[in-house]
Amino acid sequence: MKKNVTDILDIHTHKLEADSLGKSIVNYPLLADSPLYMPFAGDVEVDRGYYYSVGIHPWELTEHNAGQLLDYLKQQLRKKQFVAVGEAGLDKLAVASMELQLTVFKAQVRLSEEYGLPLIIHCVKAVDELLAVKKEFRLQQAWIWHGFRGKTEQAVQLLKKGFYLSLGEYYSDETMRTVPDERLFLETDNSSLDIEDILCRAAKVRGVEVEVLRETIRRNIQNVFFRA
Ligand SMILES: [Zn+2]
Repeated sequence: MKKNVTDILDIHTHKLEADSLGKSIVNYPLLADSPLYMPFAGDVEVDRGYYYSVGIHPWELTEHNAGQLLDYLKQQLRKKQFVAVGEAGLDKLAVASMELQLTVFKAQVRLSEEYGLPLIIHCVKAVDELLAVKKEFRLQQAWIWHGFRGKTEQAVQLLKKGFYLSLGEYYSDETMRTVPDERLFLETDNSSLDIEDILCRAAKVRGVEVEVLRETIRRNIQNVFFRA
């Protein structure tokens, strides 16, 4: 699905609602009963007009379902049109062991490369592990750390390693000012805020006009998710 996008602003949300139509990248639910995906019921078909990412979240992962989730993810990637793999990642607070999380995450890194899709990353207290994985691969695809709330020093470290950072409702203002234009994304994730509110606040913190920042974000979305 490579085309010109003008309307997408929100690169990560779990809310499939009218407001997301053509304006957000919606996290497609692999598990119908996942606690992460409240608005969905059953094996929903991809609705027309929405843009989706698909991946295995570390919170959903157990020893018993890992193989099944990976098979299902591969099926989805083969038959559906997605603009990203994820959210996927590593989370020290998740139930699944780090070993299992690493196996499943690396499988998703390979899928992101195979399908030529950027990777949307969830990372909690596992930055060293994440960076070690990144070193193992010769990556072509962008890695986007979503919902970044860490310290500015960590943002700087990640930017040096080539990451894109997506900021949502919570972040430090210093970090918001530190991310260069070409590495910044915005998102609502599970927030009740509208992406327009997040855009306005981000523009204020960065000291730029809202419409200037909107164009910056759109250009990044075009370059990363819809590369010609
Ligand atoms: Zn999310």
